[in-house]
Amino acid sequence: MATVESVRGPVELSDLGQTLMHEHVFVLSTEHVQNYGSDWWDEEARVADAIAKLNSMHAKGISTIVDPTVWGLGRYIPRIQRIAAQTPVNIIVATGLYVYEEMPQQYAYRGPGTLIDIPEPMVTDFSRDITEGIAGTGVKAAFLKCCMETPELSPGVERIARAVARTHVATGAPITVHTSGPHQSGRTAVRIFGEEGVDLTKVMIGHAGDSNDLDYLTELAVAGVLLGMDRFGLDLFNPGAERVKTIAMMAAQGYAGSMVLSHDASCFIDYFGAAHDEARAAAAPNWHYEHITDDVLPALLASGVTQAQIDTMMIENPVRYFTRKAS
Ligand SMILES: [Zn+2]
Repeated sequence: MATVESVRGPVELSDLGQTLMHEHVFVLSTEHVQNYGSDWWDEEARVADAIAKLNSMHAKGISTIVDPTVWGLGRYIPRIQRIAAQTPVNIIVATGLYVYEEMPQQYAYRGPGTLIDIPEPMVTDFSRDITEGIAGTGVKAAFLKCCMETPELSPGVERIARAVARTHVATGAPITVHTSGPHQSGRTAVRIFGEEGVDLTKVMIGHAGDSNDLDYLTELAVAGVLLGMDRFGLDLFNPGAERVKTIAMMAAQGYAGSMVLSHDASCFIDYFGAAHDEARAAAAPNWHYEHITDDVLPALLASGVTQAQIDTMMIENPVRYFTRKAS
């Protein structure tokens, strides 16, 4: 039977169950925490809080989260392993690089045509995370992540995207790309990944659901990619009622097989520092792991989306995304 790698090891695809396709456990810059976090970061309390939040979500029927926290968002697998050992939730982790503009210096001088002229070191690093495991933990990444915040990419961001694409071609691991709904940069992903020979059915266009432009969303779905309707609770970017309406219209046109649902939430994100809990409660009270089960699924059903279409988006599409083609 086919499996996918999780923090606790391989999981049968048929056991993934209801899956949230884009959630973070923590978004946390190590350098930020080490220098300025002493008044707001409590490792033990935050680990316990994450376990409690995941277990509460699990009690409502979600069995798996897909966590695209890579370098740039604070990936630290030993902490996630502690949490995964104390929750039944499957946590699937990623490799790649989260950068909007500038290539990290740690890759800028290494690679084809640079000072240290070696094969693309990102492909080497990402591939090792997928095939051998991440940083000696034995935990394998199951998918790739990169960013296309704007339609025109900086040279560094394009190099990252092409390294992600080449790692996909070499390993078969699927890709999640952060895009901008307002800038419709999912088109850039389709173009660049197409040029690199990526199987577009293995690409999830993150944050497509920030857009309500049905022409844009349909164009992407026809190209074969999965649409990440993945920021429920972030009403600042697109109100929840609009997100629901857009999904209902896309489903009515036959595109349930092209959409997945998620919140892009986290148990802690260090963007708000000491004001984390208050800032989040004030700005985005529904931005948590249980908003979809509590509020969004009932709203979708009330909008004419069928339970079978919900199962397609929550269970079948994630399985298809993680199913490797026989080679
Ligand atoms: Zn995210």
